[in-house]
Amino acid sequence: MIHDTKNNSQTTRELSVTDLKGVGSSRAKVLGKLGIAGLSDLLRHFPRDWQDRRSAENFPPPDQPALKAFFGRVVHSRSLSAGMRLSIFRAELMTTAGPLSAIWFRRRNPRFDVMESLKKEIFPGSDIWVVGRAETSISGKCEIHVEEHYLQNEGSHLHVDRLTPVYPLTEGLTQKFFREIEWQALIKAGKDVPEFIPHLIAVKRGLLLPEQAVRGIHFPESRSELAEARRRFVYEELFFLSLAWRIKRRQARESNKNFTYAIQRSLLTPFKNKLGFEFTSAQKRAVNEIFSDMQESFPMSRLLQGDVGSGKTAVAISAILLAVENGAQAALMAPSEILAEQHFATLSRLLSGLPVKIQILTSRLGSKERREALQKIKGGEVYITVGTHALLEENVVFKNLRLAVIDEQHRFGVRQRATLKRKGSLIDLLVMTATPIPRTLSLALYGDLDVSTLDQMPPGRIPPKTFFSSEIKALEAVRREVNQGRQAYIVYPVIAESAKKDLLSAKAEFKRLSEGFFAGISCGLIHGALKSADKIKAMADFNARRIKILIATQVIEIGIDVPNASIMVIQNAERFGLASLHQLRGRIGRGVGESECHLVGRPQTPESQRRIEILLESHDGFKLSEEDMALRGSGEIIGTVQHGDFGFHLADLSKDEALLKETREDAEEILSKDPNLRLPENQLLRMRLRELYQEHWNFIDLA
Ligand code: ADP
Ligand code: MG
Repeated sequence: MIHDTKNNSQTTRELSVTDLKGVGSSRAKVLGKLGIAGLSDLLRHFPRDWQDRRSAENFPPPDQPALKAFFGRVVHSRSLSAGMRLSIFRAELMTTAGPLSAIWFRRRNPRFDVMESLKKEIFPGSDIWVVGRAETSISGKCEIHVEEHYLQNEGSHLHVDRLTPVYPLTEGLTQKFFREIEWQALIKAGKDVPEFIPHLIAVKRGLLLPEQAVRGIHFPESRSELAEARRRFVYEELFFLSLAWRIKRRQARESNKNFTYAIQRSLLTPFKNKLGFEFTSAQKRAVNEIFSDMQESFPMSRLLQGDVGSGKTAVAISAILLAVENGAQAALMAPSEILAEQHFATLSRLLSGLPVKIQILTSRLGSKERREALQKIKGGEVYITVGTHALLEENVVFKNLRLAVIDEQHRFGVRQRATLKRKGSLIDLLVMTATPIPRTLSLALYGDLDVSTLDQMPPGRIPPKTFFSSEIKALEAVRREVNQGRQAYIVYPVIAESAKKDLLSAKAEFKRLSEGFFAGISCGLIHGALKSADKIKAMADFNARRIKILIATQVIEIGIDVPNASIMVIQNAERFGLASLHQLRGRIGRGVGESECHLVGRPQTPESQRRIEILLESHDGFKLSEEDMALRGSGEIIGTVQHGDFGFHLADLSKDEALLKETREDAEEILSKDPNLRLPENQLLRMRLRELYQEHWNFIDLA
């Protein structure tokens, strides 16, 4: 089967996966699920890992998780049965590393001999490769539990005796099959892989030719070949992202929102009077930056970043009020219902008595209430709409939306940012994040945004003291704080007892503690599975100090602001990521006075130990996020979904900072000569850029 190619300018037709041996229509369908139709798609489906399956020269220390490969000649083999269910096949090999026992386990089947194919292949004298994990046998010797084996023949070099690619798969496909079709694709189409990077840049940066790189990424001959191949494709991923951000940024600056703002103070002044505190100088600076953006002719695209508790909300409200003072509508989107409710309550309190109608839009509204709310938003009666993802739904239509604010932006994807923005024409956008991300990551994720930073905490804040405590010590500290009129959070990793029996659950512990250790003290329970009304009630009771101890799951991680809470206990702390722990801890220490965070748990891996140590050492969110990125890589931090949004398959921003910088320079250079990619030599770039981002982002519009 032959179909038109999209990406290749040299040849106009491209081979399809069904042209490969072993791929019929049903497998083609499965491959389709991975977005693979033609051979060039297949060749751009990169491995997620490479295993060193060169013949091991020494036996590894047993019981290590890594797979190892051994090559040897069979000296002896036999099959045994082990109980009713299991058959065992055992071969003694003479390998390059010495004599070795290899063991295969198969589930028994009463209808046929599950070891038949093994018996046919593996007998004294045959040369085989075995791949498996080294375990200690009962007699204390090292043996290999075989996961894959290959007879030494012309096909085996794809799977063993090399750095072996491991692919992202989908159900119904195996690694072995994938390696075989990638190899075939390389032979048939490896030379036709299109070059998207302009020649001069490829030369300047010393990038491999696509033909070399595609071979090196799938079947590298050495670590250094792999590194060069990877560098080339990472360069490509980052280069297109840099181009996209530059173009988008320029286009935004050239557009005209046809609306002028005047600072009227009809709302801003009463708001400030009610606030009860002075802005920090960091907040003042951010407000100035935002106000001058809003008064520009082009739409604002600004990121407000600042550590937990630095006071982003008050800055955002200032922006919202400037919009409303000028007769425009504003929307504030938060990633959780609880946080949306809190913002709604804060706004309602600060604007009470002023003629500004505020509407909440979350799943708590009944269908009638919701219909009425939508009507008011559409009619322009409501000035400020606060909500969750519910704001993004198609039937939410504004009359005159001019400002969109997204709180805790890192919880949303680029697409959601774009969707909210499209609710108005050329609107100002302010996104906020409490996770001060490393600069590389922020350049990549927010390359189109200007940045304001709150690098200062409100006065009087004392960072929480953090301890690694026993449960009893932590609970006693809670009792002490509560007796002094303060409030507490106790956080658990799961809602209810489940398969994960080793984890404490909020529900069970609520019962145990409120009836036991804390009997006589009012305790509340909050978690994600509660009905909206119950969540709202629990938070309201905690806010009003009717509840002294709030027993919770991670739902309180983001945004929650109850300054009287002065102590937090995090149970099974080893189960939370570093960013989450920092966010959780950020719920306390928000008022004046001292506060304490107790981490309780049993960190068993070096990584979870390290996380806790880091948290004990530092309060600096910025430093924590760099450590986090070093521990986990950027993919984990931005989340795999978002990773996809940016077209990253190989890029890891914790390692690829230098490359990102190069791509930004190169993108700049090209666009300075040809801002809309109109020159003939840039046509391929233009096409590729559209292919990568147009559909998902829907905002790059090349003139
Ligand atoms: P975050 O940046 O984490 O969103 P919030 O906006 O929730 O922080 O602010 C945290 C707390 O600090 C709130 O109780 C808020 O009222 C208070 N706050 C904000 N700015 C100031 C300030 N300049 N002086 C004193 N308290 C402030
Ligand atoms: Mg906040």
